Amino acid sequence: MLACLLKGPGKVVLEDVPTPILARGDVLVRLRAGGICGTDLEKIHGGYGPGVLLGHEVSGVIEQVGEEVKGLKRGDRVVAHHHVPCYNCYYCQHGDYTMCDSFKATNFDPCGFAEFFRVPEFNVTRGAVTLLPDTVGFEEAALLEPTACCIRALDKSGAQSGNNVLIAGLGPTGLTHLQLLRNMGAGKIVGTDIQKARLNMAKKMGADLVLDPNEQDVSKEVGKVASSGVDLAIVSTGNPKALSQAFSSVRKGGRILLFGAPAQGAIYQLDVSSLFARQISITTSYSCLEPEIRRALDLVSRKAIDLGSLVTHRFPLKEAPEALEFARSSPAAVKTMIVS
Ligand SMILES: [Zn+2]
Ligand SMILES: [Zn+2]
Repeated sequence: MLACLLKGPGKVVLEDVPTPILARGDVLVRLRAGGICGTDLEKIHGGYGPGVLLGHEVSGVIEQVGEEVKGLKRGDRVVAHHHVPCYNCYYCQHGDYTMCDSFKATNFDPCGFAEFFRVPEFNVTRGAVTLLPDTVGFEEAALLEPTACCIRALDKSGAQSGNNVLIAGLGPTGLTHLQLLRNMGAGKIVGTDIQKARLNMAKKMGADLVLDPNEQDVSKEVGKVASSGVDLAIVSTGNPKALSQAFSSVRKGGRILLFGAPAQGAIYQLDVSSLFARQISITTSYSCLEPEIRRALDLVSRKAIDLGSLVTHRFPLKEAPEALEFARSSPAAVKTMIVS
């Protein structure tokens, strides 16, 4: 079967590999849709070595289950999650599940961008394979994982209805934050991005104001719709420059949510006295858990959010390397999907 593997920095190859063999508690899924995430691109180009796995926003159909698997069977439509916590350790007991040492210890085999991938028993027994209702398509299902990451992050940020919010970075997760905030009754929402296609999409999805930070003074324009500044500024890009927009637009006592994964070793110079004097809080959030995936599924099932519209381009699995390059370089790409 085909699998898309990372063999070294910048070196993505398509390989013919053996179909994984199941242990008693494992599940084998036939890939139907896999979203390309910014973190996949960071893994390819950010100096991560070989052995790092690509593809974690995936949905498909169960091909085979190990003899001890309960509640799942061949033919079930599912979304699978690559990381799960142990629910037992110090971090888990303190609610920091995504900091659990076990969280990244398991993953799909051989990776998510493969014709078939094995979900290990550790994940299966912790609820990482979720059944899909017939009304939810495979592409929407693949986007449940990133949506769940946004849900967890917004919870951690303390976002509330009525909050005025800046979203710096209108890629797939920025646009998902926008929809989740609209759905929860946020106040004014301002979105920024340097890509026109993304600004247009944000406008359609309910942003009150969209800005190109290369052409407009973000904090000045934000002041016109939220005179004290925004209650919450979300940095939904890995580019640390976007932090400047957040710091200059957030109100006194407001919060900054650092959501987009910065490149390894990224540095940002900060006026700490201003941070203290203005009592700005900074929250970070990484990844998600099964309960948030189920909340995302509930929102999509009720059509409270529209994930399907985020998908702008599709590539077959045999063109996965081209798809990854396209996602990195095309100004028109919002969500690029690998379909099988
Ligand atoms: Zn992701
Ligand atoms: Zn743990």
